[in-house]
Amino acid sequence: MIEVSNKCIGCTKCVPVCPFAAINMIDKKATMNEACTLCGVCVQICPVKAITITREEASARDFSGFKGVWVYVELAETGDKTHPKKIKPVTFELLSEGRKLADELKEDLCAVLLTDKNHNYEKELGAYGADKVYMVEHDELFEYNTDIFSTVIVSLVNRHKPSAMLYGASIQGRDLAPRVASTLYVGLTADCTALAVKDGLLLQSRPAFGGNIMADILSPNSRPQLATVRPNVMKLAEPQLGRAAVVVREAAKLDKSLRRVKVLERKITRDSGAARIESAGVIVSGGRGMKTKDKFKQLEELSGLLGGVVGASRAAVDLGFKEKTHQVGQSGATVSPKLYLSFGISGAVQHIVGMKASDVIIAVNKDPNAPIFNVAKYGIVGDAHEIVPKLIEALKK
Ligand code: FAD
Ligand code: SF4
Ligand code: SF4
Repeated sequence: MIEVSNKCIGCTKCVPVCPFAAINMIDKKATMNEACTLCGVCVQICPVKAITITREEASARDFSGFKGVWVYVELAETGDKTHPKKIKPVTFELLSEGRKLADELKEDLCAVLLTDKNHNYEKELGAYGADKVYMVEHDELFEYNTDIFSTVIVSLVNRHKPSAMLYGASIQGRDLAPRVASTLYVGLTADCTALAVKDGLLLQSRPAFGGNIMADILSPNSRPQLATVRPNVMKLAEPQLGRAAVVVREAAKLDKSLRRVKVLERKITRDSGAARIESAGVIVSGGRGMKTKDKFKQLEELSGLLGGVVGASRAAVDLGFKEKTHQVGQSGATVSPKLYLSFGISGAVQHIVGMKASDVIIAVNKDPNAPIFNVAKYGIVGDAHEIVPKLIEALKK
């Protein structure tokens, strides 16, 4: 329920920001009509805090009307004028996982696409399992903006009532999902590493207490159930080319004043390591056992010979051996290369969680009891400083 108290001074500031034209000024007081979706935008804008939204007690609510697993579609800039944006791989990973969840729940899998221009995105989204694409096409969606994007998503959620919604745990997803969750007043499980269905609910698993235990989280008292999932954690399904998704065009009235953060200048700098490590086929990683920055540099040569990218443990990053953007693990990148070579890394659980999905792991450590050997397919108990130069020499030959 939404109410305007007699604190209202009739300033009309709330009228243009309402995305649903739900506010009329009657007798110099804001009055909400039935188009209101309780999105909460006017509450934030009111200078005298005259507007309040009261939500029903969650445990008393009937959630049978909430249906559908939704996936937020994240777009990345390409630099190409004809196709300036493409769908980020994490979206396809979420659709692949979402398909399994939706099938088990016997609900639709829906992609949520916010863009200034559609480039037939529905073809790819359908191929990865989406039944429907809720698409909002609007000039104000030309670039990601927390206020604008969260407002649109909240309104879509209020209109269509999905049971669950998944976001990539990317910079954008980590910004957007909490804003949507707080506006809807629902829970959010961040950085999930596994999802399943339990008693009709979304079972969200994620590392907790510094990665030492896995926590299973259920949200029985709120809808939608919101989760972010890290890139490279969920396996990609085979795309079914030609499988189409139904496009549902949604209207949104977006006022510029919603945009509280204005981008004055854009400078795109590319850290090739950061961009490439998550999609690299070969990663040569080093840890504290590499001892010095100079010795760590040998890994660059080795990775160059293998056509790979250098990764690092957090200890190696903290010691300044490599930039943070190359860190693999819980607080770094999650990777799944075909080959992961590890030198002088102990295998702390926070590191393992970021690389255990690699196809083949080869670990070199001088301690035979190092936990890295528990996940390695091939283990070499030995001195990295002897083995790395030998490998370089052999590869050069
Ligand atoms: P160490 O644990 O010190 O291991 C060095 C290893 O090198 C040892 O096993 C040793 O036997 C071996 N060694 C030494 N000399 C040689 C040699 N000459 N040849 C071969 N082997 C040798 N860590 C991450 O990596 N990524 C993360 O994202 C991350 N996130 C974290 C988040 C949180 C909340 C916390 C609490 C911790 C996190 N950590 C992370 C840190 C993690 O717990 C470990 O401290 C870290 O991974 C250890 O790095 P390391 O294996 O390089 O160093
Ligand atoms: Fe409009 Fe949202 Fe305010 Fe309702 S809560 S009146 S939809 S801005
Ligand atoms: Fe009234 Fe607040 Fe709306 Fe201004 S912004 S008209 S004070 S409810």
